[in-house]
Amino acid sequence: MKIILRLGVVIITLLIATSVLLRVPAVQDMMTSREIARRMSSISNDLFVDDALRAVLCGSAAPMPVAGRAAACVMVIAGGKFYIVDTGNRSNNNLALWRIPAKNVGAVLLTHFHSDHIGDLGEFNMMTWAQGRPSPLLVYGPKGVQQVVDGFSKAYALDSSYRTAHHGDAYLNPDKGRMIAKEVALNGSSATVLDDGSLKITMFAVDHAPISPAVGYRFDYKGRSVVVSGDTIKTAPVMRFSKDADVLFHESLAPHMVKQMEATAHATKNGQLEKIMFDIQDYHSSPIEAAEIANKANVKELVLYHLVPTPPNRIAEWVFMRGVNAVRANGVLLGVDGLTISLPIGSTEVVHGNMNDR
Ligand SMILES: [Zn+2]
Ligand SMILES: [Zn+2]
Repeated sequence: MKIILRLGVVIITLLIATSVLLRVPAVQDMMTSREIARRMSSISNDLFVDDALRAVLCGSAAPMPVAGRAAACVMVIAGGKFYIVDTGNRSNNNLALWRIPAKNVGAVLLTHFHSDHIGDLGEFNMMTWAQGRPSPLLVYGPKGVQQVVDGFSKAYALDSSYRTAHHGDAYLNPDKGRMIAKEVALNGSSATVLDDGSLKITMFAVDHAPISPAVGYRFDYKGRSVVVSGDTIKTAPVMRFSKDADVLFHESLAPHMVKQMEATAHATKNGQLEKIMFDIQDYHSSPIEAAEIANKANVKELVLYHLVPTPPNRIAEWVFMRGVNAVRANGVLLGVDGLTISLPIGSTEVVHGNMNDR
């Protein structure tokens, strides 16, 4: 009994001492400086060191807001550079939190121009420029990309001029802060965006009618491959261009859940939402359709992203994935922000991780 009492006194004394110490400015400064150093150190340099093709899901959601998730964004890393397929709103926040080094920017590749795919383009350009990006940002996309780039550039022109005036040309050189639109014309149903002998990026047309043009991208790097569908119904080109891919990121809308949302909007007399919930059902793929495409294309791993609606909990995930297991029991993941897939060169390995666990 005496020992317990003594132990209690020691613990209480320690707690009081700690609480007093934490209020001492010198102790607070020491802790703050340690935390700043931790937050300013890179946690993602290793993504660029070994030779692998990597994909990181920088946005798994769609226009409907959900805490902790950004709209459409897939980062592909190859040959020491990273490529961002779609800069959905809030995706820049993920990339900044993961401290992806701006010196390694390859390019942005846009699939189409719905706001949930382009919302953070201006922020991404500004952030990487401020971090010392060595050259202007290349933004590839189908016809219309010039208009989008011009619009963001105009909206950010004042801010860019403030920053150059404040920090000086040597640090924020206006030329390096530019975005350059690279419109890619499809040659039939596809076009080569880049081919440097190791990395080949192919753009292919998808069917997101009435939205046109809309495209997806395939990345081939030293025998490994990643495909990003963009927004599309179940369509043959995605199947064709995903042939034997290691990983397919495929968009997904759960019609049975969206129908429920439509019914609720109807019951609560929200005509605007009811109309939108009805209309969006005809230009996306269901999780089951995405699984069927992955099977037919002999894809090793399917990641569902651009989740409509984004499941907020485990039960909603089960509802979202209803029926998928019967079509594809293995090799399918419901995407979450931060999901990292590494494909080491010279192997068939698929390694999973999450940037948010670092
Ligand atoms: Zn879309
Ligand atoms: Zn979309």
